[in-house]
Amino acid sequence: MENIKKIRHSLSHIMAQAVLEFYPKTKLGMGPAIENGFYYDFQFSAPLQESDLEKIEKRMKEIILQNEKLEKEEISKIKAKKLFAKQPYKLELISELPGKTVTIYTNGNFTDLCKGPHIKNTKEINPNCFQITKIAGAYWRGDEKNKMLTRIYGLAFETPEKLMSYLKMMEEAEKRDHRILGEKLDLFVFSDLVGSGLPLYTFKGTAVLKEIKKYSNQLQGEIGYQEVQTPNMNRSELFKVSGHYDKYKDDMFIVHSHYSKEDYFLKPMNCPQHTQIFASKPRSYKDLPIRIADFAQLYRDEKTGELSGLTRLRGFSQDDGHSFCTEEQIKDEFKAILSAIEKAMKTYGMNYKIRLSFWDPKKPEKYLGEPKTWKKSQQLLEEILIENKIDYEKAFGEAAIYGPKMDLISKDSLGREWQISTIQLDFIMPQRFDLKYIDSDGKEKTPVMIHRAIVGSPERFFGILIEHYAGAFPVWLSPVQVAIIPISEKHLDYAKEIEKEIQKNNIRVELKNENETLGKKIRGAEMQKIPYLLVLGDKEIEAQSVAVRERGKGDLGAIKIDAFVEKVAKEIKDKI
Ligand SMILES: [Zn+2]
Ligand SMILES: [Zn+2]
Repeated sequence: MENIKKIRHSLSHIMAQAVLEFYPKTKLGMGPAIENGFYYDFQFSAPLQESDLEKIEKRMKEIILQNEKLEKEEISKIKAKKLFAKQPYKLELISELPGKTVTIYTNGNFTDLCKGPHIKNTKEINPNCFQITKIAGAYWRGDEKNKMLTRIYGLAFETPEKLMSYLKMMEEAEKRDHRILGEKLDLFVFSDLVGSGLPLYTFKGTAVLKEIKKYSNQLQGEIGYQEVQTPNMNRSELFKVSGHYDKYKDDMFIVHSHYSKEDYFLKPMNCPQHTQIFASKPRSYKDLPIRIADFAQLYRDEKTGELSGLTRLRGFSQDDGHSFCTEEQIKDEFKAILSAIEKAMKTYGMNYKIRLSFWDPKKPEKYLGEPKTWKKSQQLLEEILIENKIDYEKAFGEAAIYGPKMDLISKDSLGREWQISTIQLDFIMPQRFDLKYIDSDGKEKTPVMIHRAIVGSPERFFGILIEHYAGAFPVWLSPVQVAIIPISEKHLDYAKEIEKEIQKNNIRVELKNENETLGKKIRGAEMQKIPYLLVLGDKEIEAQSVAVRERGKGDLGAIKIDAFVEKVAKEIKDKI
């Protein structure tokens, strides 16, 4: 185990130790290491206040400086039950653990039930490299039927500098929170009546979303994908054949019909439907690859508590596509998709790394298909990356149910990682749907299916982009690209003429016609992060020009409207 994980987990022990010193009657839940830190779940006899966290943190630092050893001991379950007689949650865990013995860890006056590993001595922790951050409610073992416990979170890093830079990044991320900016910039709304996880995109939000989809469609068009339209629901039978019904049915919304006995499902993915387009007529090797793209709405039944802004939704689309090809064509197909993704990430200004997601050979029951098919396809994907000299890391147990995949982990402007794009190899679904083509030797063969997405879900990506750009979208993506601000009422007619001229060129423009002072109108447009403001008064009318203010650059002076339109149109075309 990585040392930082041991440090994080050991800090959870030290936190429980400090908590018990202050509140001896506290019942202990669990305390794992998590990304960037740790937590511990407690049941306090009186509610804990945020203000109590300071003294807990202070006491933890003192414990660390006592250089306490963390010592492991294996004891019988009978002895453990006596030791934890006053700790009902620990007793529950002891009785569920396999075997006759359990392991405990002791440092100073504190002993916890734990399988480890930990650091050997508290002196391995720099007392300035961690911080207690917050308390939250958490059900025991994440089950809402259980009691609500109090979870105390902490952050911990290798060095105080790393902790500081993480705290700074979080502060910036909070300012960029897409849920807050989304409302401020009037991009999307949620309604209780519509339901959670089901956003409504406003005029402005829809404009951005359409640009994201249009660009994905352009990129996949360049590598031979053509768009289709498919229904949002289908017979359950389709998912029984695909295998999703068995593995995935609890995550699908079910639809009952008044007229047919069979249940329908809202589709969580497009793949099974696309197999039916392939199967709709005889196919020859000359027709392959057949590349299908689809932006249909998809629905997944998520727990309400897990929904978050646009990054976790119940209804969304994907820039989804499937290539049906021969085995010989796999490499070229992957290469083409990788190049489209690379282009997209460059345009959006994101770095990325590739994760090769393999199956978990210890849990073959989680997947469809034979081990030998898995071996073959995993090897093939690795070859593609090696041949194209692309760096990658491997992750076991992250594959899709039908095959291995390449996931692109993108880094936003704050250095946060997001899994966005994916390319997946699938030998199994074509078999399950009995797809065939006639090969050059006249024999029937089964095509290979490649599942791929460029930015994944455009809606989720929209949420990520809001934070990535802190709401200041590049011109081509901006919901409003140009704001026109007439200085007074008498300049309104000219402003309307200019508005028409800009609209004619498919540039998104807003005329600030409200009864406000000039300063207030300019500030309003700046708050909306509109890239260009045109201020129009007597001077501009006389010169038949526009006075331009550019976001982040200030006054550009007066130019003719034709020249301005040409400049903005070029920036939009070049995706700046
Ligand atoms: Zn432990
Ligand atoms: Zn698919």
